[in-house]
Amino acid sequence: MTMIKGIAASNGIAIAKAYKLDMPDLTVTKETITDVDGEIKVFNDAIEAVKKDLEVIKEAAVKNLSEEEAAIFDAHALVLSDPELQSQVQDKIRSESVCAVGALEDVANMFIMMFESMDDEYFRERAADIRDVSTRLIANLLGKALPNPSLISEEVVIIAHDLTPSDTAQLNKNLVRGFATDIGGRTSHSAILARSMEIPAVVATNTITSDVKDGDMVILNGIDGEVIINPDEATIASYTAKRDEYLAYKDELKKLVNEESVTTDGHHVELVANIGSPKDIEAVIENGAEGVGLYRTEFLYMESAQLPTEDEQFEAYKAVLEGLEGKPVVVRTLDIGGDKEIAAIDMPKEMNPFLGVRAIRLCFEREDIFRTQLRALLRASTYGDLRIMFPMIATLDEFRKAKGILKDEEAKLIAEGVEVATNYQVGIMIEIPAAAVLADQFAKEVDFFSIGTNDLIQYTFAADRMSSTINYLYQPYNPSILRLIKNVIDASHKEGKWTGMCGEMAGEELAAPLLIGLGLDEFSMSATSVLGQRKLIRNLSKAEMETLANEALQCGSMEEVVALVEKAIQ
Ligand code: PEP
Ligand code: MG
Repeated sequence: MTMIKGIAASNGIAIAKAYKLDMPDLTVTKETITDVDGEIKVFNDAIEAVKKDLEVIKEAAVKNLSEEEAAIFDAHALVLSDPELQSQVQDKIRSESVCAVGALEDVANMFIMMFESMDDEYFRERAADIRDVSTRLIANLLGKALPNPSLISEEVVIIAHDLTPSDTAQLNKNLVRGFATDIGGRTSHSAILARSMEIPAVVATNTITSDVKDGDMVILNGIDGEVIINPDEATIASYTAKRDEYLAYKDELKKLVNEESVTTDGHHVELVANIGSPKDIEAVIENGAEGVGLYRTEFLYMESAQLPTEDEQFEAYKAVLEGLEGKPVVVRTLDIGGDKEIAAIDMPKEMNPFLGVRAIRLCFEREDIFRTQLRALLRASTYGDLRIMFPMIATLDEFRKAKGILKDEEAKLIAEGVEVATNYQVGIMIEIPAAAVLADQFAKEVDFFSIGTNDLIQYTFAADRMSSTINYLYQPYNPSILRLIKNVIDASHKEGKWTGMCGEMAGEELAAPLLIGLGLDEFSMSATSVLGQRKLIRNLSKAEMETLANEALQCGSMEEVVALVEKAIQ
C-alpha cells in the first residue's frame, strides 16, 4: 500500500481499478529493408488490423457517446481505406527500400501538411483525421497498444500524465469514477470539467503514472488530494465509510434546492452555475442554481473534428435558454487557446499560449468563426434571458470592436427578417489586470462584468495556472486580488451595473464571506458547489462581512486574510 499526495481538484472519493491512459513512445526509426513484398504485406496487414480495431471502438463509442461523436470513427475508417494513401506508402517501400512504418510516417506527414495548408476549412479538418489514423497504424506497426477510453467496460479510475479538456469531456461518467494525473492545477480545464461531471480528481501528483500499474486497485481521495495504491482491506473499509459520509452530506444539502440565497440580514445574491454543454442543464436544475453564469461554449467546438455550424450552435444555445426557463444565461463567446485546443482550428504554436492568440484575440483573427457564433447566439436570443460575454478583454477598443461585430451581425439578421431579442445584455470577463484596473471606464459601456479569477490570478501573479511547481502563487486571498475585485464591483455599482464571478474562487467556501462583504452580485460555480455555498451564505451577515472584507483589504498577505476569515466563520 502506497499513498501519493497531489492537489485536490474535484471532491469525492472513488475506489476502483486503475486504467492507464498513457500514450506509448511512438518514435519511428527508418530502417532499410530487403524483402519489399514482405514489408508491403506487413503494411497491408496493419491496415486490416486497424480497421478491425476501429470497428470495435466504434461499437463501444455508439453506446457511450453521442452519434456525432461516434461518427468520427467512420471518418477514420474512410482515411484508412483511401487508395491514394495506401499506394503512396507501398510505392515508397518499393522505391526506397524503407520499412513500412518509416514510409507511412513520411507519407502521412506529407498529407497532413498538404491538408493543413489548404484554404478550405473542410480539408484543413481532414488533417486531424489523418494524424489520428496514422498514429493508430504506427502503433500497430511498432507493436505498441494505444489506450482506448471508449473501450472501458468496468468502473475505473483513470491514471494519466495529463488529460486534455477534450479527453476529459469524452470520459464516460458512468464508468470513469475519477482521475489522477502527474501534472495540472486546480484551475486547469480538466479539473474544472471533473467538478462539473461530479467525478473526484487529484492532479499534480508528479509520479502517479510511474507509481501505478494498469489494474492496480486505487482509492482516489479528491477531498484531501491523495491516491492510495493497492490499499489493504481495512483502508478500503475506512474510505468506503468516508465516501458514504460525503454522499450523506451531499444529500443533506439537497434540502436547500428551493431555498433563497440570502444572508441573515436580508441581502440577496444570485448563485448560478458554470456549464460546458446543454447536457449540464440537468445538474444546474438539480442543484438549485438560479441560472447559468458561464456557458463555456468552446466545448461545443471540441466535440467533433469539424467546426459546429451556425444551426448546430443555435440548437445548443436555444436548448440551454429554454432549459433554464427564463432564468439568466451568460454565454461566453469562444475561448480557445491556452490549454484548450480544438482539432478544427489549426492553432499556431506559441511560446506562451496563455499570453498569445487566445479567446477574443483568436476571434478577431478568425472573424468568420466569431461571426457564425454571434449569429447563432442572436438567433437564440428570443428563447430566454441571454447575456453575451466576451472573454479576455484587455482594452476598451477590443470591447468596442467585439460589440461592433455583434451589432453588425444583428443588423444583418434583422434585415433578413430574423427576430432578435431587444433586451439581451452584453458584458465582458474581467480576467486581465489591465481591464480590472480600468473597470470604471469599462463600466460606462458594458452591461455587466464577470470576474474570471482563474486567469486574473495567473496574470496578476505572472504564474501559469497549469504549473504545479508554482502552484503556491495561485492566491485568490491575496489582498492584491481582493483589491482588484473591489475595484471592479465598486465601478460597476457606480454605473448601475452588476458584477459576477465565474472563476473557481466563486465556489470556494472560504471566499464566500469576503465576496459577500465586497458586494459581489452573482456567484457562478460548478453546479455541484451551489448548495454548499448557499448553506454558508444563509448563515452570514452582510454587514459583518463588510467589516471583514475591509479588514482583509488592509492585510499584507494571503495567510493573514485566510486566518481572518477562518476566525470570523468559526
Ligand atoms: C477564468 O479565467 O476564471 C474563467 C472562468 O475562464 P476559464 O477558466 O475558462 O479560462
Ligand atoms: Mg479565463
